[in-house]
Amino acid sequence: MDKIVGNIYLLKLGELTLKGGNRAEFESVLKRNLAALLRGTGAQIYNTAGRFFVRCPSGKEDPVEDALNHLFGITGWAKTRTAEKNVQAVIAACVEEGRKLYENGIKTFKIEARRTDKSFPLDSYQICSEGGQAVLEAVSGLKVDVHKPGGIIEVEIREKAYIYGNSAQGRRGLPPGTAGKGLLLLSGGIDSPVAGFMAASRGMRLDAVYFHAWPYTSEEARQKTIRLAEIVGRYSLGIKLSTPLFTEIQQRIKEKSPLEWATILLRMAMMEYAEKLARKIGAKCLITGESLSQVASQTIENINCIQSRIKMPILRPLIGIDKEEITRRAEAIGTYETSILPYEDCCVLFSPPHPILRGKPEEAGALYEKLELETLIDAALEKAPVEKCGFAVS
Ligand code: ATP
Ligand code: MG
Repeated sequence: MDKIVGNIYLLKLGELTLKGGNRAEFESVLKRNLAALLRGTGAQIYNTAGRFFVRCPSGKEDPVEDALNHLFGITGWAKTRTAEKNVQAVIAACVEEGRKLYENGIKTFKIEARRTDKSFPLDSYQICSEGGQAVLEAVSGLKVDVHKPGGIIEVEIREKAYIYGNSAQGRRGLPPGTAGKGLLLLSGGIDSPVAGFMAASRGMRLDAVYFHAWPYTSEEARQKTIRLAEIVGRYSLGIKLSTPLFTEIQQRIKEKSPLEWATILLRMAMMEYAEKLARKIGAKCLITGESLSQVASQTIENINCIQSRIKMPILRPLIGIDKEEITRRAEAIGTYETSILPYEDCCVLFSPPHPILRGKPEEAGALYEKLELETLIDAALEKAPVEKCGFAVS
């Protein structure tokens, strides 16, 4: 009777299904990304309209679930039972799922059913009522609550019958690779890794740049940023991280400019470098972790100074988000613990005690030009080491 084969995961596509004409392309990028995340697990992917499935070899559940937790473009996933498409097998699987819910401390449930195969003898409503009845009889202690159930048993009658309890939240968003590439300015702080994650969640692939000021900043500080790129790169399907040496540029700023302008001028140099690098690697925008008025360099006037010489769009996904919420997100993504490791930040080293709060772009531009940084920037660009972090889709 009840033929259950384990270790199939079902993935729900959500927003992707709204993409009309682009849907096929989005689905193929999603599939490629999923395959990259599953590399080395031996898992296989197959799909039907609106659903992806992963066949997972036994013992590989942990890495497969970790891959699903890093996949943008799905609203949910569940480890599902498959059953033969007959009423008895489907009801038996509902009962098993009900039992599992109860064993996990859940006291109320409902059944939700979808039937794409209309030849199945019960319609969706009948599956819910007959399945529900069978669960109630078999699992004493479990009750039905259609409004606020503790657990939901979902039944999908497709080419096979799929039965699963409480699906997990997916990462939502869109698959990286559907919105081109952006260049992330990745510091070792809390904010910029979250900004990169957010751009990736809207379908962007990422490369990144970390401005290093050795020997004022240590190799450990660079390694910490590489680690952050590894963590974010797992969501964005790989990050190539450049780590140019900015020491001479910082020294020149210190020698030749009023101290209160140092941070803004350094940011302007970073932007100029980043725009050049972005053009070289085919990135369409720059991404920063700036949040309005969080620090002196992030007043709207200073943001205006910093971007005044840049033509490329600058995305600032955190602009309206406060530090507490950014921190919460960093914890959820897995970057927080690394971000708070105590290595020096290159900007803090040269940061003035009384920075300009509302700089004027004309003044910033005039001071910046006097620095004559172009040769130094080009030399740094030429020599910058590049690290491959996370893993890249070929
Ligand atoms: P974060 O937490 O990301 O370091 P922050 O709140 O410390 O941000 P700032 O230090 O003012 O803010 O930096 C603003 C943004 O400038 C950062 O989010 C990052 O995008 C970029 N940035 C700052 N320092 C560097 C660096 N050394 N290398 C690359 N990008 C940097
Ligand atoms: Mg910082």
